[in-house]
Amino acid sequence: MQLTDLGVIKDLFNRHGFSFTKSLGQNFLINPSICPKIAELGGCGKDICSLEIGTGIGVLTKELALRSKKTVAIEIDKGLQPILAETLYDFSNIDIIFADFMEIDLKKLFEEKFKDEEVVICANLPYYITSPVIMRILEEKLPVKSLTVMVQREAADRICAKVGSRECGALTVAVNYYSNPKKLFNVSRGSFAPSPNVDSSVIRLDIDGNQKYSVSDERLFFRMVKSAFSQRRKQMVNPLSSDLRIEKQKMSEIMTAAGIKTAARAEELSMEDFINLCNKVHKYFCSN
Ligand code: SAM
Repeated sequence: MQLTDLGVIKDLFNRHGFSFTKSLGQNFLINPSICPKIAELGGCGKDICSLEIGTGIGVLTKELALRSKKTVAIEIDKGLQPILAETLYDFSNIDIIFADFMEIDLKKLFEEKFKDEEVVICANLPYYITSPVIMRILEEKLPVKSLTVMVQREAADRICAKVGSRECGALTVAVNYYSNPKKLFNVSRGSFAPSPNVDSSVIRLDIDGNQKYSVSDERLFFRMVKSAFSQRRKQMVNPLSSDLRIEKQKMSEIMTAAGIKTAARAEELSMEDFINLCNKVHKYFCSN
């Protein structure tokens, strides 16, 4: 069954009484070259397990399962159950869980489904939860090798920007803290049904077992990064001092001690600057 064929999709929808739910980001891939590419570049392999977020009618799920030892997929919309039972009927290595990815106990899922296995995550993510999904996977430090996701082009450019560049944002710093992000390829809006009004890109975040960076207090680090970028074109001393409740004069002194100009804007800092600054602020809080 060719799951990227519009006629096949329409027939499945008619027979199972299914229709797209826009609020769940249901833009399904109809360009046949994309899913095999995601599965290949996403690092699937006969000894490797894959996890998918958001199956739709199973177009990517199938390609992952063809190349993986086992595929676990999480889909929020139970209305897709009868369709997936038909489209993925031939596969004995697919396990679909109907749940909200943001609510599921991921540690338990990994323990139950992927114990001692190498895992890659691949997904065509609904745009509305791109950042929370990526951050959840990274922050929970799940034992995954990589995360290959289709995201809105703008989000891809932001995530893969260089820390310390104009395009950099809080998400760039957060993602670089945990992984090495890389843009793989662009996907046009016409590759989906219904067609969204933005273009997309597939990116891969390689997660090295040995995290490159570490700070004294990760919660403080992410709070500071978010605050520093909250007024991205302005001097970061102001939002930092008000969000952290440190007097502006003191905040300037801490920045100077971290080797950062007091007039600096968040987009001018390197990863090392952010880490240094966070450690200095942490030290200040501990001694006060
Ligand atoms: N993988 C399919 C494809 O490429 O055609 C579908 C991709 S579509 C962009 C996103 C899918 O994620 C939809 O099937 C939607 O129902 C599902 N979804 C949306 N929010 C979700 C959530 N919180 N947890 C799990 N799945 C979700």
